[in-house]
Amino acid sequence: MYASGLKIYLRLLAYVRPYWLMFAVSILGFLAFASTQPMLAGILKYFVDGLTHPDAALFPNAPWRWLQTLQLMYAVPFFIVLIAAWQGLGAFLGNFFLAKVSLGLVHDLRVALFGSLLTLPNRYFDQHNSGHLISRITYNVTMVTGAATDAIKVVIREGMTVTFLFAYLLWMNWKLTLVMLAILPLIAFMVTVASRKFRKQSHRIQAAMGELTHVASETIQGYRVVRSFGGEGYEQGRFLAASLTNSQRQLRMTRTSAIYTPLLQLTIYCAMSALMFLVLFMRGDASAGELVAYITAAGLLPKPIRQLSEVSATIQRGIAGAESIFEQLDAAPEDDQGTLERAQITGRLEVRQLSFTYPGSTAPVLENIRFAIAPGQLVALVGRSGSGKSTLANLIPRFYAHNIGEILLDGVAVEAYRLKNLRQHIALVTQQVTLFNDTIKNNIAYGDLAEKPEAAIRQAAADAFALEFIERLPQGFDTEVGENGVMLSGGQRQRLAIARALLKNAPVLILDEATSALDSESERHIQAALEKAMSGRTALVIAHRLSTIERADLILVMDQGRIIERGTHTELLARGGHYAQLYEKQFVEEKSRRQPRLRKPALNALIITRIDN
Ligand code: ATP
Ligand code: MG
Repeated sequence: MYASGLKIYLRLLAYVRPYWLMFAVSILGFLAFASTQPMLAGILKYFVDGLTHPDAALFPNAPWRWLQTLQLMYAVPFFIVLIAAWQGLGAFLGNFFLAKVSLGLVHDLRVALFGSLLTLPNRYFDQHNSGHLISRITYNVTMVTGAATDAIKVVIREGMTVTFLFAYLLWMNWKLTLVMLAILPLIAFMVTVASRKFRKQSHRIQAAMGELTHVASETIQGYRVVRSFGGEGYEQGRFLAASLTNSQRQLRMTRTSAIYTPLLQLTIYCAMSALMFLVLFMRGDASAGELVAYITAAGLLPKPIRQLSEVSATIQRGIAGAESIFEQLDAAPEDDQGTLERAQITGRLEVRQLSFTYPGSTAPVLENIRFAIAPGQLVALVGRSGSGKSTLANLIPRFYAHNIGEILLDGVAVEAYRLKNLRQHIALVTQQVTLFNDTIKNNIAYGDLAEKPEAAIRQAAADAFALEFIERLPQGFDTEVGENGVMLSGGQRQRLAIARALLKNAPVLILDEATSALDSESERHIQAALEKAMSGRTALVIAHRLSTIERADLILVMDQGRIIERGTHTELLARGGHYAQLYEKQFVEEKSRRQPRLRKPALNALIITRIDN
């Protein structure tokens, strides 16, 4: 069901490569640490021997005289301190440098994950909800840290300890030690079974964690709707369920490890007891000191083995976390095969036989769309809600790849442009305005525009008719707007978005205007801002205002993804078709308006205009 754990772990370790030197130092540190374990057992032999002959020499055959005379009484306590100091040094080097490696690794993974968010196609965001994507960066990465730090630490330190202890035991009495080794296959089997369980459970925990983040963030973002529609109970229930699922899954994982660890411990002690029996049964000619040292070394084994077995859960959690991280890193980025880069374009737009179906759906949203806008022309596209206007607008900056037909910008297919270059020529105001939790100034001068001079920002704000409200704010351009501009009104936010697009000063402007009802004052402001925005560039505007539409040289009427009528405002009215009906309806509404509009207008328009510079 899941990719091989080893492959994922090796891939994870490939991220360690840049840190190999630090990694090597930390391994040396743990090596030093682990080497002290058999030393401590070994020193016991001399302690027991010293009980009977305290003035015996520790190294009677040493090359130096002073070493030959070193008595056990002084040597044993001295070496214990020395071993402890050596152990401390090893622990420091091991822990500190491994932490450096693992934190670096986690940082790299997190950055890679975030970097992929900047290149993943629109489709990816349609299919994955933000809660799960966020929890990947926050929760999954910490799980990987666990596998990368704690697990490696334990594996190296305790693994070495076990190795050294076994080596010592084999050296002391290999026949006896083989008894211990006989249980290794059994341990391996238990570890494998438990690991598989751990990984499956970790995947479930991660999904539950994503769900938790998802429900919480949805409630936070939609708190007004939640409160005004009495959704508190529903959200509370949803959150309780998600949190409970999460706890249950965590508990299940804990239960697995709580059963597994003592079982393993029992197995090891069974082997130990067999060993003890054999030691007592055939004491042979070994000294009491040797036997004590042997049994002590054997007795030091269960703890590191237990720690090694417990780490399996951590590793599996890390692998499960890494798996979903790699799934995202491996997802194909936005298609960017184009190579054409143009410093300047005129903005001529032509669409030929364009059809489009959203990935994963079967019904086409756009069918056989065909129109051309010569520079200097103003074309409007109108149609009911859901007729595909926003979709068409999204295809031009290639947020989705169209299936059939062509979109030509300056006579060149949009796919031929390098994506970054194509988007440099297009200024976009989306239907749902996006503002960042930053100052007004930084919201207008966002991204590539950050370099623009103060005066240009001011001019753009003035052209978008935003200056009048900005100047009334206490901190003017330095006012923080809050998350997605919560401190501003709908019309103000829209004007900021228009100002941003104006500042970009791109030859093509796409304006997917929000349909929200505005008061006549802000509507007039936005209308004026739009007029300003459209002059001097090719603009693609999905507007809901008659005055904008009437000015168009050509109006295309869309319905269910097709163009069903085309002509100027006068021509279409004279024909008395769909447009005339739409116009009639909206006109009546428009006249009876100026009280707040209750319904969304039936007429939505896409205006594509071009006025020569
Ligand atoms: P409105 O005036 O309400 O903004 P619109 O003309 O802009 O409407 P679109 O947003 O283009 O309409 O939607 C056209 C159709 O495409 C709708 O039926 C919608 O269900 C579908 N659609 C929109 N976005 C997606 C998507 N990301 N995935 C699948 N289908 C989508
Ligand atoms: Mg739309």
